[in-house]
Amino acid sequence: MDAPLLKPNLLDLDRPGLASLCAQLGEKPFRADQLLQWLHARGCDDVSAMTNLSKALRERLQETTEIRPPQVLADREAADGTRKWLLRLAGGSGIETVYIPERRRGTLCVSSQVGCQLNCSFCSTAQQGFNRNLSVGEIVSQVWLANHLLPPHPVREKPITNVVFMGMGEPLLNFDNVVAAIRVLLDDLAYGLSWRRVTVSTAGVVPMIDRLREECPVALAVSLHAPDDALRDELVPLNRRYPISELLEACQRYVAGNERRRVTFEYTLLAGINDHPAQARALGKLLARLQAKVNLIPYNPVPGLPYSTSSAEAVTVFRDELQRRGLVATVRKTRGEGIDGACGQLAGKVLPRQRRIATNGVPA
Ligand code: SAH
Repeated sequence: MDAPLLKPNLLDLDRPGLASLCAQLGEKPFRADQLLQWLHARGCDDVSAMTNLSKALRERLQETTEIRPPQVLADREAADGTRKWLLRLAGGSGIETVYIPERRRGTLCVSSQVGCQLNCSFCSTAQQGFNRNLSVGEIVSQVWLANHLLPPHPVREKPITNVVFMGMGEPLLNFDNVVAAIRVLLDDLAYGLSWRRVTVSTAGVVPMIDRLREECPVALAVSLHAPDDALRDELVPLNRRYPISELLEACQRYVAGNERRRVTFEYTLLAGINDHPAQARALGKLLARLQAKVNLIPYNPVPGLPYSTSSAEAVTVFRDELQRRGLVATVRKTRGEGIDGACGQLAGKVLPRQRRIATNGVPA
């Protein structure tokens, strides 16, 4: 027997998508705005409750569409309040989404792809291979679902105040869907986040950094992890295609002409590999012109990989070396321990396993 045909999912539609649905149904364009507001600003999961839509439209939507968030396969909470969901997507693949509460912020770390193509040598997602890009709806649904599942916050109007594309995948290799999803996050009728509260993290896809600047300049984080090309070629194979000098030029273009725009560099500290004080000095020299902020990430060990966490002392010395050179350097607090919810530990469920792309980790 054939599988029953699924009705279109309203959560898959961004503003233009909702507008064309309304046009198909012979409705005025402003109905799309109302739908966007109900679905995202109010997190409504029931068309019949959308009381400013006509009864006829509500009935039509109920017959022909659905509000279908991804299925939650696992929901784990760490002692520090970090919460991680394993979500099942259409087709059976799984992704992970992590909620990181702080006093004044609720950050959601979202995935942009099922698996990853980049094959960074120390990352757990890389071990999984790559399956596919997430759709706009699958990206936005992670935020929708988190707002839905988290209890009301005593102070914050919405549980989620910040979104970082630091989950599974390389967001700039799923550019169109990531940008369309960001537009929903920034839309006042949907989530209304400011561009400073949405961060795209990239391993350094240089041409796409320029496109992001032109089309959707949100906060940018760049995963650097090494002060020289020889080492970065090994850790982040994408570097063979876009070496450090080209990457830093793209970062300079990203911030040029806008005082408030900043690039943050992420640097995962791997014991004995990239955590020597001389490497901190080299990094300081490299970033001196950029007024950069460096976020040092203590490595979260991945079973089967030959890396270990730097000692607390090495981390402090490294940070101090950077600060001495006038850089803002912070050490990222490890969150989500005990639930494999920390950086680089997101694995999800990549089906079917696909061969990683050889040579430089970049699809042709
Ligand atoms: N592909 C994007 C988005 C992933 S963000 C990017 O590379 O930026 C996840 C961040 O955690 C990246 O900086 C990544 O390099 C880092 N990371 C990966 N594995 C890690 C691990 N095991 N411990 C600490 N950080 C890790």
